[in-house]
Amino acid sequence: MLSFEKLYAEGHEEVVFFSDPSCNLKAIIAIHDTTLGPALGGTRMWPYESIDDAITDVLRLSKGMTYKAAVSGLNLGGGKAVIIGDPNKDKSEALFRSYGRFLESLNGRYITAEDVNIGVEDIEHIFTETAYVTGVAETHGGSGNPSPYTARGVFRGIEASCTKVYGDRSVKGKVIALQGAGSVGRHLGELLYKSGAKVFFTDINEKNIAAFKEMVPSAELVGVDEIYDVDCDIYSACALGATVNDQTIERLKCKIVAGAANNQLAENRHGDILKEKGILYAPDYLINAGGLMNVSIEFEGWSDNKASRMVDTIYDTTMRIFQISDEQNIPVYKATDVLAEARLQSIKNIQGKFLGAGVSHRFPGRKNRNRAV
Ligand code: NAD
Repeated sequence: MLSFEKLYAEGHEEVVFFSDPSCNLKAIIAIHDTTLGPALGGTRMWPYESIDDAITDVLRLSKGMTYKAAVSGLNLGGGKAVIIGDPNKDKSEALFRSYGRFLESLNGRYITAEDVNIGVEDIEHIFTETAYVTGVAETHGGSGNPSPYTARGVFRGIEASCTKVYGDRSVKGKVIALQGAGSVGRHLGELLYKSGAKVFFTDINEKNIAAFKEMVPSAELVGVDEIYDVDCDIYSACALGATVNDQTIERLKCKIVAGAANNQLAENRHGDILKEKGILYAPDYLINAGGLMNVSIEFEGWSDNKASRMVDTIYDTTMRIFQISDEQNIPVYKATDVLAEARLQSIKNIQGKFLGAGVSHRFPGRKNRNRAV
């Protein structure tokens, strides 16, 4: 159940419910923290079994976005939205345009993007009604598919991990067990392959397996459960969260865990166990922030060069987090939170000093599709 005590405890600023029976829209937007700027995070469509499940998800995800933006050095706050519905049956132009009108009413405090079950075509309908949306198609001045940039960031995180563990940034000759040959996985696989790594991979989707093989011809397919037993240097989770858990952790033979999936540790204590076992864990919400970085520059004019240079900073930030982890003798997942919270606190401090000065809440804005044409 949603309560003010819960919002106070987790630090959420605002939770908004939108409903429009004419198109069966049921949406919840959670704005967690706007210290660093307007909240940016994707909209997810999911057939939640109860409204409580939807609330739990949107609160958890929006808080995660605050930390992701903070640690990545972005001038963005954390927010996320969920639309309750079956993506196979309940999607319509009317629903997304109605949702877009509601977003407009928030005046830019929340900016949306793609997330699970929301694609560029849905974003285009939203963009007809509001400019507070990113991940817009390139034909309309957007940045298109973020997955190649997410993969690039994960690759930089893997390079930083190799520097820390092997004293050499290169992945040449390293063996990778890659779980999930989807949008991010296949671009990551290609980067690894082109840099001379040996890739073992798994997936449950035949089409994605075939697409992966085309991009990474030397890759070897292993069974869905066998991926945890591959004798490798790096285990890279690019499908699901919580795959570092009581069942898998004893099986992992790697020196590094570094992938795109969010919340890879089933519980924080698994991060402690990794440290005890001498396995380096690259902070998931930092190294998978390339997609967020990519959409964040849409408002100022996106370019591949600008996005790529920004994503490449993930290498240095990952190294900084490893340093904090060593200096304070804390696991990497805690060190990542330390860095994110320190930045949030430092900006809160200057806002306290210069009340009314308005820090970084300046998005130049752009026209929505209706106004542009
Ligand atoms: P995707 O849906 O394109 O790919 C996921 C792949 O995982 C699919 O091919 C699917 O068949 C496979 N899969 C599902 N269950 C599996 C299992 N049990 N074993 C093996 N494979 C399985 O998703 P994506 O966009 O590539 O994202 C991958 C992960 O990265 C997700 O966890 C996502 O939340 C996270 N992420 C993605 C982005 C992005 O820009 N796309 C950004 C940040 C984080």
